[in-house]
Amino acid sequence: MMATPCSLPLQPMFELIVGPMYAGKTEELIRRLRRAHHAKRHVVLFKPEVDNRCGEDACTSTHNGDRFPAEIKKTAREILAYVLEHDVDVIGIEEVQFFDEEIVEVIHALVYVHRKWVIAAGLNRDYRGKAFGPMARLLQEAFEIYPQHAMCSICGQPAYHSQRIVPAKELVLVGAKDAYEARCTVHFDQDA
Ligand code: ADP
Ligand code: MG
Repeated sequence: MMATPCSLPLQPMFELIVGPMYAGKTEELIRRLRRAHHAKRHVVLFKPEVDNRCGEDACTSTHNGDRFPAEIKKTAREILAYVLEHDVDVIGIEEVQFFDEEIVEVIHALVYVHRKWVIAAGLNRDYRGKAFGPMARLLQEAFEIYPQHAMCSICGQPAYHSQRIVPAKELVLVGAKDAYEARCTVHFDQDA
């Protein structure tokens, strides 16, 4: 999304939005990117190829159906190349847990070397309750962390876990609407 460029220097920043599925991570990411756009920054949202929930469109969508244009990238390195080539100011990264481990070094370089503003959103834990891909290292890198929670699909209490409700062995089963539910700790069964 292009805006008339802002002449004020940008404060390098790395913000990380974390939580289970349905927590509003994408909503919060889009809200922050729209504000950066209003602040006249050149904003681009990236998402991993594995997230195909917008169909063929190059965009990201929330569980509410809100959408935001997105560049689809296979690797962390491709994000860095795009940002430098297009002189992007504010970099949104959706489903950051699905990028390769090099995403940690790429974000570090974007912030410390290229003085960029990075806002990423991701699942802190997989459906078994284990750290998800690069997330543990990203949590340690982030300057600001925004934990989000959903509401438990069984009891309505705050939910911090993503429960897989269909049998499948693969760790990555993206966004299949009926495959996961938000669950509180009482109703989360990591062995299910
Ligand atoms: P995330 O990116 O964290 O998966 P989204 O930003 O795509 O979440 O969607 C958040 C929206 O999902 C909420 O605003 C709400 O309308 C909807 N939603 C559906 N199920 C739930 C739930 N169990 N708890 C909270 N919000 C839910
Ligand atoms: Mg999301």
